[in-house]
Amino acid sequence: VDWKRLEEVWRPWAEAFSVALGFVAAAVMLAALVARVVPPWHLPWTPLDLDQPIGRATAGKIAALEDDPVRCLALLAEAGVEVEPVPDRRQGEFCVVENAVRIRAGVTPLRPAGLVLRCPHVASLVIWDRQVLRPAARELLGREATAIDTYGSYACRRVYGSATGRPSEHARANALDVAGVRLEGGGRVTVSADWNDSEATAEAAFLRRIRDGACRVFGAVLSPDYNAAHRDHLHLDRGPFRVCR
Ligand SMILES: [Zn+2]
Repeated sequence: VDWKRLEEVWRPWAEAFSVALGFVAAAVMLAALVARVVPPWHLPWTPLDLDQPIGRATAGKIAALEDDPVRCLALLAEAGVEVEPVPDRRQGEFCVVENAVRIRAGVTPLRPAGLVLRCPHVASLVIWDRQVLRPAARELLGREATAIDTYGSYACRRVYGSATGRPSEHARANALDVAGVRLEGGGRVTVSADWNDSEATAEAAFLRRIRDGACRVFGAVLSPDYNAAHRDHLHLDRGPFRVCR
């Protein structure tokens, strides 16, 4: 064996390998350092946790649930949200409901009860409820939220109920219309009565806070600021269009 020749052939490879190893080690150390300094809700590679604050990576993590119904159901279970899966269904030419559930517990109750919503929408809803709505009720109104009044979720129709045009996200059970919030000890805040009551009321501030917070976890969020069709509710959907108004 010509050891000298062998060394000549292998030396550059060994050097290249050790340099590559050095880069990998540096990357691993950098990632570990980032993970120590940056909270997990800002890091896209950490798992979604519905009890964590809304961060830079939250919306992307919820979006990943759209193609993973099994993971979506598991995530709700982990977060203590009890749901009943609903069989997929098709109605008419464009109303298709897939991966939908009915919520039983674990979220501020929706009224009327028994609404059907797609699983990823429920994930957004749970985060909104826990990280935005409940804290806002405590902070701005000094009371616990006890129920969310809605105008429903599923409706087999096109946008604005017109005869033509694209199907509404309601036609996929992928949208919820929030009319207001009921509070502990009676009383309620409603979009129709409290949105424009006056700029300074706690109720108006509460409604704007929950609208703005919804924009961080839903696709389209439409309020009375958007148009007259939304004067009495907040429309929260997980469709492809991003609007926050
Ligand atoms: Zn709506």
